[in-house]
This record gives sequence, C-alpha cells and structure tokens, in this order.
Amino acid sequence: MLFRVDVDAARQIRTDFIFRGSNCACRFDAILGMMQMDEIWSTAMDEILKHDLDCIDRVIATTSAYAVETLRGLDEKPVTKRPVPTELRQLPEAGLGFEAALKNFQARWAPGFSASAGPRYLGFVTGGATPAAMAGDWITSVMDQNPTASIDSTAPDLERETVSWLAEMFGISKAHTGSFVSGATMSNMVGLAIGREWLGEQSGVCISEEGVGALGRIHVLSGAAHSSVYKALSMLGAGRQALQSVSLLPGREAVDVNALEAQLAALDGDPAIVVANAGTVNTVDFDDLAAIVELKSRYRFWLHVDAAFGGFAALTAQHASLVRSLDDSDSVCIDCHKWLNVPYDSALQFTKRQDLQVRVFQNNASYLGAPTGLPDFVHLTPENSRRLRALAAWFSLSSYGRAGHRDIVQRNLDAASELARRIEEEPRLALLAPVRMNVVCFTLADGPDEARIQGFATRLRDAGQAFLTPTVLRGTWGMRAAFSNWRTVVDDVTRIFEAIAAAL
Ligand SMILES: *Cc1c(COP(=O)(O)O)cnc(C)c1O
Repeated sequence: MLFRVDVDAARQIRTDFIFRGSNCACRFDAILGMMQMDEIWSTAMDEILKHDLDCIDRVIATTSAYAVETLRGLDEKPVTKRPVPTELRQLPEAGLGFEAALKNFQARWAPGFSASAGPRYLGFVTGGATPAAMAGDWITSVMDQNPTASIDSTAPDLERETVSWLAEMFGISKAHTGSFVSGATMSNMVGLAIGREWLGEQSGVCISEEGVGALGRIHVLSGAAHSSVYKALSMLGAGRQALQSVSLLPGREAVDVNALEAQLAALDGDPAIVVANAGTVNTVDFDDLAAIVELKSRYRFWLHVDAAFGGFAALTAQHASLVRSLDDSDSVCIDCHKWLNVPYDSALQFTKRQDLQVRVFQNNASYLGAPTGLPDFVHLTPENSRRLRALAAWFSLSSYGRAGHRDIVQRNLDAASELARRIEEEPRLALLAPVRMNVVCFTLADGPDEARIQGFATRLRDAGQAFLTPTVLRGTWGMRAAFSNWRTVVDDVTRIFEAIAAAL
C-alpha cells in the first residue's frame, strides 16, 4: 500500500530526536528510509531509463548483434591503429538512450580501439577471451553479485570452487587457499603484503597494527623481478629500494641460486622475502624453484613466486616440471586475463598463510565470515566490494576443461616455435634468445639501436597486420612477439611473419 508522507516533517522529527540525545534516532532512520522509498516510488522513473527497462530485450539483442559483428570482423580489422586523440566531450544533461549511445560509441570510439582480442595482437602478454569466458563475463554483469560476504548469496562458494579448479590445474595443493584479484600486480602486492606480515611475525611485531616502521629495513631478493614487484613494494611502504637484485645465470633471465644463497647468508639470520620468477616477460625463463625451495631448510625467507603466465607451463607435458615446486612456496601469483583467456580484469593469489592474510586485509574483526568458518573474501583482498570475477573463469573451465585450456597453451607454443623458425631463416633478423615457451624475442641482424627498433615497431603497427612491442634484452634493443590468444592458429604466423618482413 502506498501512502504519502511529508518527508521534510519526518526529517525534522528525526533531528529533534538527535537533538534531545534520544537513542530512538537509529530506529527512526529505518522508518525514514521506508518513507523515502515511498517518496521515490511516487515519482516517475526517468523516461529514457524507463524506456530501456521496458525494452531490455532490445538492449540485449542490439548489443549481441554488435558483439557478433565485432568478433566476426576481428580478423579483418587492423590489429592496431596509430591512436588519434579524440576530443573529450561534456557530460550530457539529458541522456540519449542506449541505442543512440551505442551509435555514438561506434562512431567516435570503436574505430580507435585495437583488435587486442584477436589472434595477431602479440604485444605485452595479452590473452583474449574464450566465448564461454566472455559470456560468463556478461552474466557477471547481469547478476551483479558482490561476493564479498556469504550472508545473502552462494556466489562466494562459486569463487571458492573456481579457485580450487585452478589450484588443481597448477598443481597447487589444499595447503594453499586463494582468491581472485584484479591482475598480477595486485596478486604480487597481496603475496608481498602477507610476506611483510610474516617478516613482522619473525621479529615479534604486528605490521598490520603497528605499521611498517616497526620493522626496520625490509630485504627483498630477486633475479629478474617484474616491474610490478617494484610497484608493489612502493605501495607496501617497503620502498622500491628494498629489492636487492641477485645475479642471473650467464645468458639467462633465471636467478643464479648460488648467488642467492650467498646474499641470504650475508643477511646474518635476518629474515627476507625472496621473489622467484616463473616465466619472465622477455624470454619466459624460470628460476630453479626446487633449488630455491631447498634453501628454505637453511635460511629464513618468505618465498613468493610470480608465475603470472609461466604457471600455465603446468598444462604441458614438456614444461610442467618447471613449476612442479609451486606448491612449496608461501605465496603464488597467477594471471587469468593473460593465458587463461578470460576478459580483464582477473588474476589469482594463493598463500599457505591465510591467517596472516586475514590479519592484513580484515575489514571488521568482530565478524570474520560464514558459519563454515571460512573467512569471507572481504577479509582477504584489498577490495571490499568487488565483482564476481570468478564467473568468467568458471564458465571457461566448465566449457572447455583442462583439455581445452591445454590446447590453447600448446597451440601458442607451436605458433611461437614456427615464428622463431622463420625468423632464423631470415638473414635480416636474429633471435635475441632461444624460444623457451610462448615469447619470441628477436632483433635486426645488423646494428639494432633504439631509433631503428622504434621505427620498425611503428611501421609494423601502422600496417595493422600484427602488433608487437619493443624491448631491451641485456642492453640490446629488440622486439617481442608474445603468443597467448586462444584464436591464434598457424595461418596467423604466416601473416605475422609477412608483416614483420614487410616492415623491415
Ligand atoms: C603481466 C605480468 C605482471 C603484471 O600483471 P598485470 O595483470 O598487468 O597486473 C606481473 N608479473 C609478470 C611475470 C607478468 O607477466
């Protein structure tokens, strides 16, 4: 039943309650809330919003038709275009309605977007989105769950199921628990935050309560750490300078374990964090994880493994041994929006010390979670409210299983070997490193320098057939082609190589 209320009068009454210090004010807030609801109900919904609500089937059908057209056109669309600055407009007072907004987007913005979802975008390490992952991502928005706590929905359990599937895929046992975060940078940040709490525990201080100043100098040792590790250390108050580089093996991006041992010994019993790398971005090199784990019997350190995309080695018979010791680490970072081929943004963090994780991230000590005793995700990750990121991964894993995801990895490895073979046959090009997995790092055979490589990268980009990013490996400028898209097939390698040759 609807009834009209004088909301101003009600507000006045509430103010009087507060003024008199009455504890009725809270209960009155609830009543006032209901009255305000009534006030909203009695006002008509914005006309355009109402139109889109009534025509939700049209909104979805139009979007779906546009999505099909976009995905079907991926192969023909230029992979990238030189970004042209687009004039930024003012916030509209009156809306256009969805159909007109979509036309506006198609005209003003879509033409400048890259085909990064497609098979010949080889910049950075950029996966695409499998059909089921994309559908799962849409459904995530349709359901709009907030899996932060388990009092109103089973969504957190879907996240737990998905995390356990992925743990199994990477050979990570139940000794670890995990959660979804927005990307590998955030996953590294969470792993290092738990490591920082562990350092405090070693010294009898609680960093999450007393702050990082209570600890003194933080020692972080790593060989070829990803740039995001430095960023994480900056965010954590440890500082970028906390990272002490350890020498690499000759001609490799893998850490020299003897040098690591010497640096640990030099700490004279002080605890440290070691960041091991499983899959470096230039040459997909792996630290000897088993040998690093072995050092734990003699030195006190927290072992964090950045296996952002290298973790997917677990899916292949020929490379699985490289990540067999993942389970022996204290925390692990795995990216999902790269080689799992789910849409941005998605990654996993795993740790064996959920107790320390809760100490760092708990949002309200008096209520830690479900009757099952499992801490709610709100106490485990940097965010409080968050999207049900697990759903896209759940759909992809349900739809294609381990075998489907193994096929993606294997085809990408085959594509990388094929491109490497053609580069080796081309006298004007030279490999900068042997191709270990899915990244081909190469350069110009005669005198590559920054200007020549940047010129080459720009010509290649502007031709629109393939996108690769420049890099520097051991002081030499070169290019990297990183294969991690589910759509890439051998025919694409032909087009990629022809585009490279034409841009020389
Ligand atoms: C990509 C990557 C990261 C950072 O990942 P984001 O998802 O971009 O935050 C960290 N480490 C490695 C090894 C990576 O390849």
